[in-house]
Amino acid sequence: MEHVATPSWAALAYLIAGVLFILALRGLSHPTTSRAGNRFGMAGMLIAVVTTVLLDAPVPSGQFLPRPSADDLVTLLQICAAVAIGGAIGLVTARRIKMTDMPQLVAAFHSLVGLAAVLVGWAAYLNPEGFAIVGADGLINPVSRIELGLGIAIGAITFSGSVIAFLKLAGSMSGSPIMLPGRHVINLGTLAAIIGLTAYFTQDQGLWVIATITGLAFIIGFLLIIPIGGADMPVVVSMLNSYSGWAAAAMGFTLGNTAMIITGALVGSSGAILSYIMCKAMNRSFISVIAGGFGAVASVGGEAREQRPWKRGSAEDAAFMLKQAENVIIIPGYGMAVAQAQHALREMGDLLKHEGVSVKYAIHPVAGRMPGHMNVLLAEANVPYDEVFELEDINSEFAQCDVAFIIGANDVVNPAAKTDKTSPIYGMPVFDVDKAKQVFFIKRSMGGVGYAGVDNDVFYMDQTMMLLADAKKMVEEINKALDA
Ligand code: NDP
Repeated sequence: MEHVATPSWAALAYLIAGVLFILALRGLSHPTTSRAGNRFGMAGMLIAVVTTVLLDAPVPSGQFLPRPSADDLVTLLQICAAVAIGGAIGLVTARRIKMTDMPQLVAAFHSLVGLAAVLVGWAAYLNPEGFAIVGADGLINPVSRIELGLGIAIGAITFSGSVIAFLKLAGSMSGSPIMLPGRHVINLGTLAAIIGLTAYFTQDQGLWVIATITGLAFIIGFLLIIPIGGADMPVVVSMLNSYSGWAAAAMGFTLGNTAMIITGALVGSSGAILSYIMCKAMNRSFISVIAGGFGAVASVGGEAREQRPWKRGSAEDAAFMLKQAENVIIIPGYGMAVAQAQHALREMGDLLKHEGVSVKYAIHPVAGRMPGHMNVLLAEANVPYDEVFELEDINSEFAQCDVAFIIGANDVVNPAAKTDKTSPIYGMPVFDVDKAKQVFFIKRSMGGVGYAGVDNDVFYMDQTMMLLADAKKMVEEINKALDA
């Protein structure tokens, strides 16, 4: 493969792909336009991939297309085989994956992007002529060495960080923060060593330098993610999304591929913006996230869980009170996704509206296990968008609300976030459900805790009625009682 300046037809095709990616991001920002956004993204990717494959095909000399050589055909076959194998794995995975397992799938895919960046970097290092990054002196160009060092480092950090995030989200590893003593010094020292070695790499392209950069970057990815626990994983997922974009952009420079630089930069910056939005929603500092670990206190309250009195209600009790209410705010959370209760919930909303009750849905930015998780499920169940409200738009309404109907949410309604400085969720804005006249709380058992693993005072409030059952079953029973 030899790099020639990108011909204008390819530059134009990449530009079109870039515009389509931007339209995709824009479309994905709202449920009504998200399908169109996805299509723009797919079209952009198709154009980018086909252009790249054609670009590396033999360059036409004069008016005649040269006959492809046997090597070209073998390369094309290899590319097609790789696309078929990767595509088949992706298709089967996407069809089989449960909605609740999406976050770990996303983390796993991020790890692949990181690993791909590391492998491309190493391939370029071991075969610099093939990547056209050799200078007149026969050595790798200094600029390319910086690109290689940074690309491999970001890729390796993305890989090992995503593997840890995957293990934590899949429950194969404890979700609690693992705090190493002096971790900030270790992290900063390791980062400084990576930057220093990358600078040194411009002077000495020895194997040990790039190998040490790779090893240290794998370690720092691991160190950055293990201290993050409690309710802070959403920020990590979007941050790794951003890292994977920068890793791809860095590799775009190594490969001299404009489309990859554009796509990587778009993913990197949109991931960074999402991380910033999530940090704001969680009331966390962006810098401390990037530095790894929030300094969260790992204490878990709730020893008194068994002793404190609480009230249990039935579907019939809930249906009766819901009918009497003037306004109801529904707060869905991860448990609604587990139970796949969104369709039954929408039916409940319809039945209540039929009775003249005002129904609104309140979505917390980190409810569920991935950004936008609840919005996707409610949209799938055809809940009207104008009934769905963000935290800051609806939180003041709980004080006037007759019923706060919590279905499978827990951390996002936990008042410990407001009052208990030792709680791992302290500082995260939560719904003021404690201000509602009546609270219904659907979960399966009193023993179950939310993602952060902390007890919730809402269970024990005078106005709270616990509806202990699978969310879908409970809502279906409420619907029956409402319909009777
Ligand atoms: P939580 O994880 O806090 O609580 C889930 C609740 O659902 C629990 O009370 C659980 O209790 C209940 N539940 C589980 N299964 C069922 C079921 N089948 N039927 C009824 N209830 C069920 O969820 P939230 O949505 O409130 O909070 C999200 C948490 O996840 C936050 O801490 C957030 O930081 C974290 N997170 C979010 C991510 C994101 O991007 N949104 C990514 C990673 C983590 P029980 O077991 O007793 O049924």
